[in-house]
Amino acid sequence: MNRRGRRYISVWWTVVGLILATLLVWQAARWAYHSALEELLATGGDRLTLYAGTLRGELNQYAYLPYVLSRNADVHELLLGEMEAAGVNAYLEDLNAEAGSEALYVMDSNGDTLAASNWREPLSFVGQNYGFRPYFTDARQGGKGSLFAIGATTGQPGYFMSHPVLANGQFLGAAVVKVDLTPLQERWREGGETVLVSDANGVLFLSSRGDWRYRTLSALNAEQQALIRAGRQYREQPLDILPFETEKILAADCRIIRFEGRLYLMLSRALPDFGWKMHQVVPLAAVLEREQSVLAIGTVLALLALALALYARERRQKQISRRQAREAQAIQAMNLRLQDEIEEHMRTEQALRAAQDELVQAGKLAALGHMAAGIVHELNQPISAIRTQAASGRLLLERQQTDKVTDVLAAVTRMTEHMAVITAQLKIFAHKTPKAGGQRTQLQECFEGALTMTAPLINELEISVVKDVPQEPLWLKGEAGRIKQVLINLIRNAADAMRDSVRKQLEITVSLVDSGAEILIADSGCGIADGDMDELFTPFFTTKEVGEGLGLGLSISYRIVTDLGGTIRVRNREEGGAEFTLRLPLAAEGENES
Ligand code: ADP
Repeated sequence: MNRRGRRYISVWWTVVGLILATLLVWQAARWAYHSALEELLATGGDRLTLYAGTLRGELNQYAYLPYVLSRNADVHELLLGEMEAAGVNAYLEDLNAEAGSEALYVMDSNGDTLAASNWREPLSFVGQNYGFRPYFTDARQGGKGSLFAIGATTGQPGYFMSHPVLANGQFLGAAVVKVDLTPLQERWREGGETVLVSDANGVLFLSSRGDWRYRTLSALNAEQQALIRAGRQYREQPLDILPFETEKILAADCRIIRFEGRLYLMLSRALPDFGWKMHQVVPLAAVLEREQSVLAIGTVLALLALALALYARERRQKQISRRQAREAQAIQAMNLRLQDEIEEHMRTEQALRAAQDELVQAGKLAALGHMAAGIVHELNQPISAIRTQAASGRLLLERQQTDKVTDVLAAVTRMTEHMAVITAQLKIFAHKTPKAGGQRTQLQECFEGALTMTAPLINELEISVVKDVPQEPLWLKGEAGRIKQVLINLIRNAADAMRDSVRKQLEITVSLVDSGAEILIADSGCGIADGDMDELFTPFFTTKEVGEGLGLGLSISYRIVTDLGGTIRVRNREEGGAEFTLRLPLAAEGENES
């Protein structure tokens, strides 16, 4: 992979890593948030149960007082007008002090207060009419009544509980106890917690936070407002709505609210025996803080991991670069070595070539010398013979013996013909012989001719000839004279090789093969020395004495055979002697006889 591809993949991995890390951190923060919230919900629920219990306990400890008063004989007499209020006032004062309630009082059937525990105080209930209070109307209807309200006379809030005073089923009045819940609120406030109690209309009448007291959880409708006003429950309090927003509802009695820009968890619990609802409001700050700290720690850890990964990648890249540099150095060193070796080879080759050139030059000169000696020897004889004949011719002319001159001239002519034969042999190397086009020759006839020509030599050396040639005529491509020349050369060489042999046998075998006629000419002669095999077809190569051979026979034969499109090969036979194999192409139908 190239550098760009690697870079692309690493960027891709970094992006994927970042996304994964972000998801992981976000998930961890969510988990922290939810677990902290769960904890808060659990403790909040427990606290709420506790607060509800204390409230219920606080109120229940005074619930018996109206009943006790309603059964009191003095109270009955007072309501029947059979007794003065003073005695009952003293009793109420005493009982109130003992029970620890805010006030105890007795109202007649119109709602006028006849006796009260605070009869001595300037803001005494005695003489006041509370007939408008729902707890009175409830009692008048024969039931127990209860209400939290701000005192119509004192302006002090409290919880009122009433019991009807009945005589023979007749409603005489109501006995009432007022309980002060301010100390309870104080305890809640001192506990540092926001605890609220709302009535059936949603008015927060008890609150550990002073600024939330007498605020409503939802807007009051006209009917609710009229009812509250009729009962003078909260005096002149404006009963404004508490300006909070519900952020999220987690359950029916559990929600997250936003107040003055801060988030709080608001847990509610119904108090069905009073028709109220108790609430606890806990700041969410701790939960959010825990979420944020997990987020911060997670981010730091993720960044650390990323930095570590980047550092590791950088290190790996550096290692790769170093390795590549080392490899490049090694390759460069190898290249230099190769270059040196190539130069060395070139120098050796040049030296060899120079040596070869020198050898070739020397070989050429040797061959030239050899050839010159051969030609000189071959031509010297006829030249001196011609000179001799010319001298004798001149002598004969001087003696007027003209008839004998003709013989002399005939001899000269023979000599020149012999010389012509020698030069004709050399001519073949002077220029390329034209290819025999469209000519054909019968092989058997060529053999007859060649054997006739070499007969004197064969006879002289007493060589036996063994022939295995097919009867039917074999037509070869090419001119008869040239093929005959090849055969003569081979037969003559074979005869020369057998000159000193005991057994002298020349074998001639002709057969048909795929590519044409195969001619084997084998002898029982001395064979060819291994070192000479490669030189055999080179012009002027000869092992014969000067004057016995020019070293042209085989090279001329090679030239003729390849010109005809054939091949010539040689090998030494195992039983001794050499064997030449000729392959010559057959003539096609329609080619002319030469
Ligand atoms: P020349 O016969 O004039 O020497 P050739 O070219 O015909 O020239 O032959 C080259 C050489 O090949 C001969 O000198 C001889 O040493 C060797 N040679 C050719 N034919 C034979 C053969 N049949 N047996 C042994 N040597 C041979």
